[in-house]
Amino acid sequence: MAVNLSLYLAKQQPVSLFDLDVEEPNDNHFLNRSMVHFQDVGLLRPEVDEEICTHCGLCAELCEYNALAVLPTQVMIFDELCHGCGLCSIACPVNAITERFHKLGTVKRSKNPSAAESSIYEKNLTFFEGILNVGEAIATPIIHELKKIAFVQKTKHIILDLPPGSACPVVEGLSDLDYVVLVTEPTPAGEHDLCIAIELVKQLKIPFGIVNNRADIGDDRINRLVDENGYTLLLEIPHDNEILHLYSHGLPLIGTAKRFDELFGKLWQEIMEGDK
Ligand code: SF4
Ligand code: SF4
Repeated sequence: MAVNLSLYLAKQQPVSLFDLDVEEPNDNHFLNRSMVHFQDVGLLRPEVDEEICTHCGLCAELCEYNALAVLPTQVMIFDELCHGCGLCSIACPVNAITERFHKLGTVKRSKNPSAAESSIYEKNLTFFEGILNVGEAIATPIIHELKKIAFVQKTKHIILDLPPGSACPVVEGLSDLDYVVLVTEPTPAGEHDLCIAIELVKQLKIPFGIVNNRADIGDDRINRLVDENGYTLLLEIPHDNEILHLYSHGLPLIGTAKRFDELFGKLWQEIMEGDK
């Protein structure tokens, strides 16, 4: 949805697309852009000088994430729990804690296309993706960094492709957005996840609309949910073997058939209406 909406908009105006699903970024499977390194992302983790430490226990007491345990002769640090907030090093009364940079992952940016080779989509579409290193547990700093980059883009439209679910990476991705498109399907699992996502965006007070994907495969549970609660149903996409075929070959819908352009044109119109 994010890739195709971006490509649809890029036919008219400059767009920046950000793949925030840093544990499993896949937008570029469909865009096939050459990517260049933009920046490393990490956090500062504590290191304790046991020669100076008095083992008073204050750092462990203050750490919100239980990333420290102070034993009579040793401070244990659980790196995978540390969020790099810096509180322990500030609080240590004898300055026994220093901080070291730990790389979590990378932000990449699409390479500017050459004038001769570029299509309208490449010219008008700037693409960023975040990649969390294998074995790392904390994705939010990379998402935070991507959003900092997103919010200074000068393009007409900025589209963020968020991870699925409702955990911390989604909350980090959602904050400060103008509008959210929630994509679901008419199955019990689809409805369950949609209801959680709706509660989340309501808490964050962000306007939202719903896309019902493969709308004719299940039952009418999404339509009932929309009707009973007065939600905005932006679009219903029928099950379509051609979409499956294109998807499985890593091809976007936009640019392959007029009906897909019309579909995303309708989606954009509905989003504009819903955001008024
Ligand atoms: S606060 Fe400082 S002195 Fe106290 S246990 Fe932690 S590192 Fe050691
Ligand atoms: S930097 Fe923050 S999260 Fe990490 S150990 Fe220190 S207090 Fe805990």
